[in-house]
Amino acid sequence: MDIKLFDRVLALGNLIGQAELAYIEANSDLQVLSWNAGAKNIFGYSEEDTMGRYLYELVPITRRELNSLDGTRFTTVEYTNSAGETIPCDLYYSPIMTTEGEKKGVAILCKDISSKIKDKQNLEEQQQYIHDIFGFAPFGIFHVNNHGRIVKANPEFAWMLGYETADLVTERIANFWSQMFFDPENSDEFKFGVFEADQLIRFRCRLKRRDNTFVWSLCYAKATWDSTGRRSGFNGFALDISETVKAEQALKKAHDKLQMLAVMDGLTSIPNRRRFDEYLESEWRRCFRDKKHLSVILADIDFFKLYNDTYGHQAGDDCLRQVAQAIQKSAGRASDLAARYGGEEFALILPDTHLEGAVKVAQTARTLVERLRITHESSRVSAHVSLSLGVACVIPQEGKTALELVAQADNALYNAKEEGRNRVKASD
Ligand code: GH3
Ligand code: MG
Ligand code: MG
Repeated sequence: MDIKLFDRVLALGNLIGQAELAYIEANSDLQVLSWNAGAKNIFGYSEEDTMGRYLYELVPITRRELNSLDGTRFTTVEYTNSAGETIPCDLYYSPIMTTEGEKKGVAILCKDISSKIKDKQNLEEQQQYIHDIFGFAPFGIFHVNNHGRIVKANPEFAWMLGYETADLVTERIANFWSQMFFDPENSDEFKFGVFEADQLIRFRCRLKRRDNTFVWSLCYAKATWDSTGRRSGFNGFALDISETVKAEQALKKAHDKLQMLAVMDGLTSIPNRRRFDEYLESEWRRCFRDKKHLSVILADIDFFKLYNDTYGHQAGDDCLRQVAQAIQKSAGRASDLAARYGGEEFALILPDTHLEGAVKVAQTARTLVERLRITHESSRVSAHVSLSLGVACVIPQEGKTALELVAQADNALYNAKEEGRNRVKASD
């Protein structure tokens, strides 16, 4: 034999030490002969404490069992050692026989399996945890395989989609990609996220319900791989955000309405002074960049104080409404803006419009108001309500301001009033 018995015993001793196994030997009277460091760790006694003592007093095997031992035995025991610690261990024990078949003693090999048991407990706890999350999570959890089939779904996901049970989801939805999205274009976007980036976060979409309605969802997905490293599908999570979306939509509607109200004149329902100012500023900048003409018309109802005095404030308000509509009609381009400038004054902003064009618009406004034929017997210029208008035009330049343009239109309006009212005057 190449390897000597002594060498073997040495190697075996090393292995036992490395594996932190307890190794114990006793003679035929069951008195301890050998007690290694592993045995001390498990059973608590040191080697000196145990020499010559009876084995059955130190390890959890009865005297009778040790005496009658005729082959290798195995048992798992929970041993409470001298330090009061309970240690679960796997225990192997066997008679030591001579080559002649004579029983010379007993050998014990023992392994502390607390960490193995702890691992098992942890695993069980984890499984329970996952099971609870799956069953009670307030969001949908599902798994889609490589063929696009939903192979796992939790109750919340089923409920979101209008199915009574998760089984129905896995049965009825044959293809996630073609059946799940209310807006088909979301399908490719989702696929791209999961398979190109391996994950998808906060993907907002409408998932299709069983009855072909939809549920607004915030989806998350993470690609999964099998043990060979091949992609096996993805885990998906979906949060029902219908209530949030509903609130957002209501808020946006209210916000839009408020914004609209903030720039509209309450009496005449045309844009107000604030809108006029904002629009003038932005169109000034645009025409400055494009080197285009920008025209402004200011219009003022003639002898309106007398109109109020004659027909009352209510009739005055009615008149303002009609004049506002007429003025708004006079400018037809999408970029034109008619606004109530204040009191009985109106204004028009005409981007990309030279002076002659603006004068034409002003004439149209004057004519349209005239055609309203609103009786104004106190007016000193006409039998009906009439307008005086001032027009100004400029190509915005460095050093000039929009306010100057308005001032010019106001000057022209003043001149129109001075020259007899019910007319259009252009700024020089
Ligand atoms: P002129 O031809 O010089 O413009 O004379 P006018 O009377 O129109 O001008 P003035 O500025 O003296 O009077 C404007 C009047 O417009 C005063 C006010 O009673 C009336 N007014 C202003 N805002 C309103 C409004 O919202 N409703 C009504 N009914 N009248 C208004
Ligand atoms: Mg006025
Ligand atoms: Mg007036």
